[in-house]
Amino acid sequence: QKYVYDFAEGNKDLKDLLGGKGANLAEMTNLGLPVPPGFTITTEACKAYLTTGREPDGLAAQIEAHLESLEREMGRRLGDPDDPLLVSVRSGAKFSMPGMMETVLNVGLNDRSVVGLSNQAGGNDRFAWDSYRRLIQMFGKTVCEVPGEEFEHALDEIKRAKGTHNDLDLDADDLRGLVDAYKQIFAKHTGREFPQEPREQLDLAIRAVFDSWNAERAILYRRQERIPADLGTAVNVVTMVFGNLGPDSGTGVAFTRDPGSGAQGIYGDYLANAQGEDVVAGIRNTVPLQELEQLDKTSYDQLLGIMARLEEHYKDLCDIEFTIERGKLWMLQTRVGKRTAAAAFVIAGQLVDEGLIDLDEALHRVNGAQLAQLMFPRFQLDHEFEPVAKGIGASPGAASGKVVFTSARAVELAAEGESVILVRRETNPDDLNGMIAAKGILTSRGGKTSHAAVVARGMGKTCVSGADELEVNVPAKKFTVGDHVVNEGDVVSIDGTTGKVYLGEVPVMPSEVVQYFEGELDPENTDDALVRSVHRIMTHADAARRLRVRTNADTGADAARARRFGAEGIGLCRTEHMFLGDRRELVERLILASGEQEREDALAALLPLQRADFIEIFREMDGLPVTVRLIDPPLHEFLPPLEQLAVNVAVAQERGEDVAKEEALLAAVRRMHEENPMLGLRGVRLGLVIPGLFAMQVRAIAEAAVAVVRDGGKACPEIMVPLVGAVQELETVRAEAERIIAEVVGDSGVEVLIGTMIEVPRAALTAGQIAEAAEFFSFGTNDLTQMGWGFSRDDVEGAFFWRYLELGIFGISPFESIDTDGVGRLVRIAAEEGRAARPGLKLGVCGEHGGDPDSVHFFHEVGLDYVSCSPFRVPVARLEAGRASI
Ligand code: ADP
Ligand code: MG
Ligand code: MG
Repeated sequence: QKYVYDFAEGNKDLKDLLGGKGANLAEMTNLGLPVPPGFTITTEACKAYLTTGREPDGLAAQIEAHLESLEREMGRRLGDPDDPLLVSVRSGAKFSMPGMMETVLNVGLNDRSVVGLSNQAGGNDRFAWDSYRRLIQMFGKTVCEVPGEEFEHALDEIKRAKGTHNDLDLDADDLRGLVDAYKQIFAKHTGREFPQEPREQLDLAIRAVFDSWNAERAILYRRQERIPADLGTAVNVVTMVFGNLGPDSGTGVAFTRDPGSGAQGIYGDYLANAQGEDVVAGIRNTVPLQELEQLDKTSYDQLLGIMARLEEHYKDLCDIEFTIERGKLWMLQTRVGKRTAAAAFVIAGQLVDEGLIDLDEALHRVNGAQLAQLMFPRFQLDHEFEPVAKGIGASPGAASGKVVFTSARAVELAAEGESVILVRRETNPDDLNGMIAAKGILTSRGGKTSHAAVVARGMGKTCVSGADELEVNVPAKKFTVGDHVVNEGDVVSIDGTTGKVYLGEVPVMPSEVVQYFEGELDPENTDDALVRSVHRIMTHADAARRLRVRTNADTGADAARARRFGAEGIGLCRTEHMFLGDRRELVERLILASGEQEREDALAALLPLQRADFIEIFREMDGLPVTVRLIDPPLHEFLPPLEQLAVNVAVAQERGEDVAKEEALLAAVRRMHEENPMLGLRGVRLGLVIPGLFAMQVRAIAEAAVAVVRDGGKACPEIMVPLVGAVQELETVRAEAERIIAEVVGDSGVEVLIGTMIEVPRAALTAGQIAEAAEFFSFGTNDLTQMGWGFSRDDVEGAFFWRYLELGIFGISPFESIDTDGVGRLVRIAAEEGRAARPGLKLGVCGEHGGDPDSVHFFHEVGLDYVSCSPFRVPVARLEAGRASI
């Protein structure tokens, strides 16, 4: 088996095998761009190593052969004492996992080749010893697990002795001394000397990269980003080029467009006289890439040319890493760059305008999760709020919360339900837990490409980075900005779009995108590039999609908003609220009714109230279908809780009041108590047990529809019977409902459909029979998931889902995204057998999955007619339904 590929042998489509970094290094090599020569060890080799615990047969020999040919090409041998070839050993998985895995630079340096390196560099001792100390540091830390602080400590010590804060003030002798100190640290922690044999260094580094796939933070990151755990990483061995050779050298990162807003221009950071790690780590403050034009115009122009070329080639925003070695530009990495949600929409629109992609492709370049992010509220700023600092808007959104300074504290407070803002000088991969727990991240150092910025953008978390007016003091748990001191627990607000930082809690307002959906912003007539692009892509999605999108709405107001957001009907109108408020008393009368007459009176009193509610909803929907679910929850949910009633009765008795009614209620509540209300007397069972209850609702619906129609309006009611498990249940309800409907509707022309929710597994499995009595099915995937898995949603999610996620039993909560194998299979069976029994059976879904992007794709594929979701999710479902269709 071939485990090693020369850069010239790969291409960008081999990401599974070569990882993203390796595939793109190969692509750039083949485009003729200046990439330092090297080779890639495949993910297959990594997987073999991870399963067996040792390198697969043949790998060592293949590495040897590729190393030899690299040595021939470069005219240097790895670690040669006189004229050494040095390499970097870099991780690179299929999906980018920024900073999660390991890279070792300057492999091949030892006590002898350090002299050779100095000679190569024209007697530059400082450079050579600086490179050597970096090797021991990175190698120690990543390959041998020496605590990184020890090295940093030793470096600080030397700087303190020298009276400087700047690495660049250290001379060759200082760095030589540092190498000795580093070697001692290395020996102390590993029990062996720093390996001098170059090939041993290489092999150990490769193995460390393999192992880093299973580093704790990498596992955590994959879980967050839903990256499969078994892909493995490739390893890239790349000839070193040096940005730390002097002021005519340097290193940087750049984006071909602004990854924050999508705006065209030059976005990047540059650091002269430095090696790559320094930029990302924020060790020294970088300068904007534009300044490179003054420093080295030739390289700058060449770089811009290459960036334009890459965009044209990849037809997308690219990000790159480059190094300049004494005026010679080298490309070290490129990939299709991560971007904010806003940038994704804006760039997709721009690329269509530029003729690089078509609208179908543009639709693939964005997703529902991004659209959902753009619907987050914004800060509503007035005179009261003046920013106290301005950093870089690294990841958009508006977040307020209590300040914390450590990842651990962030996790603690978030678990107590607090919103927290994690404040750090800069973040590193160990802060990942805290970043996940925080509502926002604020750092005083680092640019758009710092760890905090990249990771926050990936997580969709608000982040302001590089707010350098902040003096962050982590041990003292405070930061100062101007005259203000902000302690742990104080509230701040950060705006990840503008980079502004405010003290206190700033109120929020709807985003532009929501204003657009609300119809308050005219997309044809705005200079807001985001709104224009969202409009264009949404229009295309609507034209492309097969699935209709309805909303879950219980009131006229909800229905109205959902219509503005594009809903094409109501998929779930719950009637529970029609029994609440001052109607509770009528429900009590119904429950306590001692005879037929009392019960009928109570129901008769409820009828006009419910009819009025339905009239409002039908008017609002103006002829679009409205699925009304008959009452579902157990009736005792409408009564006061047992303890409260018992106390009331006792107190009233004490006072000598007449407690007959309270006592009757108490007795009723005791009688109706259920051990498992979720599986108790609810849904269709109520309708079969309590005479007149469903009849009253059916009558209210039919009368409302007739009233609206007689008034010149339109109404399309669909009556939905919940919790049916057997066709006989539905048939019984149906017979009564049909009688009432026929009587009410008369010659008004109103048509009322009767159907059922499929939410009990038995219903899904007998869907063929049930379809005989149903004109439509609506999958209630919340209950179907509860009953399919036997999970009580209210009890299990917080109790053990974290453990299930940790163990990989599922990758995401089945309540969030539909479990396609199990619960989804029930949906599939019911859809097929239902349609077989009744061709043209209308199929929809009204669980919360209707607004989940992945689930929408599944429902499209299963052939449902529509999904129904909460009003704010309607645009997300429209977009995803469009994406699923092309
Ligand atoms: P990451 O995936 O964390 O970015 P990389 O493998 O890209 O890790 O490397 C870390 C840093 O080292 C980057 O800035 C990169 O540009 C730099 N680097 C990697 N290989 C070389 C090399 N052969 N010569 C010079 N710099 C390098
Ligand atoms: Mg990199
Ligand atoms: Mg249900």
